[in-house]
Amino acid sequence: MRRTKMIVLGITLVSALGVCAADTFRAGAAKGNITPELGGKIVGGFKPFAAAHVHDDLWVRALVLDDGKTRVAFAVCDLIGISRNVADMARRLVEEETKLPAGHLLVSAVHTHSATSARGSGGLFDLDQKMDAYQIFVARRIADTVRCAINNLAPARVGWGAASEPRHVFNRRWHMKPGTVPMTPLGGTNDVVQFNPGYRNPNLVKPAGPTDPEICFFAVQTPEGKPLALFANYSLHYVGGVRGADISADYFGMFNDRIRQLLGADRQEPPFISIMSNGTSGDINNIDFSKDRQKLPPYAKMRIVANDVAEKVHAAYQTIQWRDHVILGAAFGEIELQLRRPTPEQLAYAKAFLAEQTEASKPNPRRMVYAKRIMEHDRVPATWKFPLQAFRLGDVGIVAIPFEVFCESGLDLKRRSPLKPSFTVELANGCFGYLPTPEQHALGGYETWLGSNRVEIDASNKILDRVLEMLTQLQKAP
Ligand SMILES: [Zn+2]
Repeated sequence: MRRTKMIVLGITLVSALGVCAADTFRAGAAKGNITPELGGKIVGGFKPFAAAHVHDDLWVRALVLDDGKTRVAFAVCDLIGISRNVADMARRLVEEETKLPAGHLLVSAVHTHSATSARGSGGLFDLDQKMDAYQIFVARRIADTVRCAINNLAPARVGWGAASEPRHVFNRRWHMKPGTVPMTPLGGTNDVVQFNPGYRNPNLVKPAGPTDPEICFFAVQTPEGKPLALFANYSLHYVGGVRGADISADYFGMFNDRIRQLLGADRQEPPFISIMSNGTSGDINNIDFSKDRQKLPPYAKMRIVANDVAEKVHAAYQTIQWRDHVILGAAFGEIELQLRRPTPEQLAYAKAFLAEQTEASKPNPRRMVYAKRIMEHDRVPATWKFPLQAFRLGDVGIVAIPFEVFCESGLDLKRRSPLKPSFTVELANGCFGYLPTPEQHALGGYETWLGSNRVEIDASNKILDRVLEMLTQLQKAP
């Protein structure tokens, strides 16, 4: 009797070590509050203003996956952007405190325009920049939240899918009737297209690029089928329409709230975590300029968008083919790109403009911002290294790019990736401005101006080639 028991125990132990430990797929998720103090500057527009109210809290939402051999983590913050030093500090803390390799953690921002800044106040290419108190707080919260997600690791099944919601994405760059595009704040214009041209502008011709209506997602649930977490990706800049100087996570937060309700995953232990990340929305917003403006109360539009997107994801969620195990992979690399320099004409224009300004002159804030950025770019190094990441989750490919990526690049990645489906998380591990394609650079417009865009004209193609190489390597790995 005793002997039989010991044999059974022995077999159980062998299977526990040999099968479970090595092959059990596990997932853990957590969220941490990163709501700033009131009074900090909300920085979505050209004229920052002090936050006066919290409509809904800002969170970092983290999901950790472990296939028994490889562990990866995703942490998405309800912020307009995060500087590279915040992401680097969070990754370093996570590696020191949890042994999760720094390169296996993706840190990104959703791009809500109703948040104070975790981007710092110095130049983007200033190596000695000191982190401010809020940046340090955010980095610490990211690391702690990833650690909590690791603490929550439990056996899980995984699956993925895609839905489509074309009603809420519009290309915000428009071809205009010849001669009607306004002057740029850099002096003069060769722009063919105009961004955000205004509702029913009589000079509208056609949008300058496509949209991507796809919502890619992956999800984890317990072996018994209880939802644990969901990670979604939609290419929409943000929605907006808040009240006054409110702090809000925009539609991203409302989507997470609604999908939890639709999945019946309220008040779970540990809590269900949904994460809506931003796809490739550098040129995509929620406004149909060919129609009249809809007059809606504050928060109404983002609620509509969040509910519609959540319902589409919920429908596609029902068709998920759940798997007990998939292979995970992660790759981190840097790409060296040339930084743009101002032309002699731009420099002369900016110097003259800044020299004219006095305390009393109250310059146009947009012209002021661009004049300063031109001066900044006269002093930047010739090249700069930018972080790139790629992840594999079974058949799914995910890449992370530290720019506001154009929709065309995202569609290109989806077409060319060896992993299907694949998608891009933008504003990841830093934020270095817009990333238009060379074709869109040729059309001009806000996103292509020096200061909106900071890297060489061909950067989007070089980045795409590199992340596709990284995905190919991950796909080939045994
Ligand atoms: Zn924006």
